[in-house]
Amino acid sequence: MFLADTLSRAFPVNETVNDDPEMLNIVHTISKHLPMSEKKIMQFKRETELDPELQIVVKYIQEGWPKCYKKVDNSVKLYYKVKNDLYINEGLLFMNEKFIVPYSLRRDMLQLIDEAHFGIEKCKRRAREIMFWPGMNSDIENEVSQCGICEKF
Ligand SMILES: [Zn+2]
Repeated sequence: MFLADTLSRAFPVNETVNDDPEMLNIVHTISKHLPMSEKKIMQFKRETELDPELQIVVKYIQEGWPKCYKKVDNSVKLYYKVKNDLYINEGLLFMNEKFIVPYSLRRDMLQLIDEAHFGIEKCKRRAREIMFWPGMNSDIENEVSQCGICEKF
């Protein structure tokens, strides 16, 4: 299912959203590249809430990042260099226009990324357009290099 309607329900179209070209762009990007059911979006929200690292990131976004890198919690140091690009929308975390994928859903996403069996480079490119987590590229390399179907390309 391709889900502009679902997405507009999941990201309620209020004035803020209507007035915010960036947000519209995000919804557009998501619906274009990553068909997500409402159920999946709820799952993302729930897993984001349950993800200890992402909750630290959320807290830093809301309360401000430590001025000094050394004071950043070790588990989220990898987010520090992109901290200015991070934001929260509708309970989901984004970096620029990309979803930040909670740890528990990365496996699912890797399978989704490889569903068309484009091989490593295309998979990485496709993933980079829509999602982010620290170490995503090497996770994709591992996943795709073990894929029996991609091997043929
Ligand atoms: Zn494959």
